[in-house]
Amino acid sequence: MKVLKFGGTSVGTREALELAAEIIGRELPQGGLVVVSALSGTTDLILKAIHASAKGDLEAAGAARIALEARHWAAARALGVDEAVRPHWEPLFQSLAGLLQGMGLLWEASPRSRDAALALGETLSARLLETLLERRGLPAHFRDVREVLRTDARHGRARPDLERIREAAGPWREGLAKGALWVTQGFLGTAPDGSTTTLGRGGSDTTATLLGEALGAEEVQIWTDVDGVLSADPSLVPEARPIPVMSLREAAALSAFGAKVLHADALAPVSRAGFGLVVANTHRPEGSRTEIRAEAPARRPGEITSVAYKEGVSCLRVPPAQDSELLFQASTRLLEAGASLYGLLATPDGGLLVAKGETADSEAVLRDLAASGLSVQRGWAAVALVGEGLREAPGRALSLLGPLVDEPVAAILAGDTGVSLAFLVPDHRLSLLIPRLHSHCIEAAPRSGP
Ligand code: ASP
Ligand code: MG
Repeated sequence: MKVLKFGGTSVGTREALELAAEIIGRELPQGGLVVVSALSGTTDLILKAIHASAKGDLEAAGAARIALEARHWAAARALGVDEAVRPHWEPLFQSLAGLLQGMGLLWEASPRSRDAALALGETLSARLLETLLERRGLPAHFRDVREVLRTDARHGRARPDLERIREAAGPWREGLAKGALWVTQGFLGTAPDGSTTTLGRGGSDTTATLLGEALGAEEVQIWTDVDGVLSADPSLVPEARPIPVMSLREAAALSAFGAKVLHADALAPVSRAGFGLVVANTHRPEGSRTEIRAEAPARRPGEITSVAYKEGVSCLRVPPAQDSELLFQASTRLLEAGASLYGLLATPDGGLLVAKGETADSEAVLRDLAASGLSVQRGWAAVALVGEGLREAPGRALSLLGPLVDEPVAAILAGDTGVSLAFLVPDHRLSLLIPRLHSHCIEAAPRSGP
């Protein structure tokens, strides 16, 4: 059994939807499960409408809602399925209007009502794809993911309840084993009280892998708009090349250090269940793709597969004589406020905490820490060289840092899995250093099989 997930840009236009339908026909001749994101831009539009409603601006909320409806009808019309999808869509649009009206009257959008409104995006696209597949003669049926994907009650950033998901997935396992072809929503879940939750932005990949785990899938395919995972950000490195096979550890390090192709949360089910994960391009299904395996492929000692970076990182320091306890407390506060942590070092030569304030709350904590007298330096970027080859030859890795000899590198950080070597450089050096590192560590290096 396979699970195929299509992202927003893979269901965003008539051309993309037709390509997606073709891929589904080819990949799932014996049935399987299809998970979809909302049409690209939909989640942002719903958020815009929610935001307007919460300020009592029903006019702006209405305008966003009408733009959303128009966008969806245009897609359905272009595919010739507008009449077929109408009975499914009309109640959904009505429900969105009702929710926005309610928020607008109360001048308030609770996380719970936001999730109820956001859920319509994925439900609309799942219904559209179902209808399109039926039109093409495939026996596709919509199933609401909220039957299965149980979560906690953290609306807006819900965590999966693995045990309850496994239980609830029983009937899905049976149906799919008999050859059903089902289309369902990414991103959504159900809280213990039955209300709708969402998994956080970009959460549909996580839905696909969680369902892959619960349903015992052999493979989960993430269909997106790039040729798999690349060796660097192509906007900085035009020579970036697709990585045909990578280990789960490499993928995890890459997403931790800013690569946008895969959501880090999506990888946990893969490491627990051990199924294959494939990232491929809906627009070029015959092009290259990346296969992520629990088992590491063979790499040359010292071989690097990719260079990743995260901008907007801050360095918090305490001098040698001072108490590094301060940094431990700061790290707890930052983590609780939603920051990402890239390193926490306490050495006889002073302490260092490397963090990125990802949320308004964590930014506020950073300002507060600076005001309380801690040295907080902004404007750094964490750059990471990633590759299984580093595990075998950690010493050789240092020779890869040649291009940095004249740079004001702030710290060198190595993770516990041994597949990444990270360091800090000033943000403004990135556009120069990333191509240089890529050419030194990847382009100039011999490639190992297959
Ligand atoms: N539609 C949601 C978002 O835009 C979830 C996803 O696309 O994965 O964040
Ligand atoms: Mg996405």
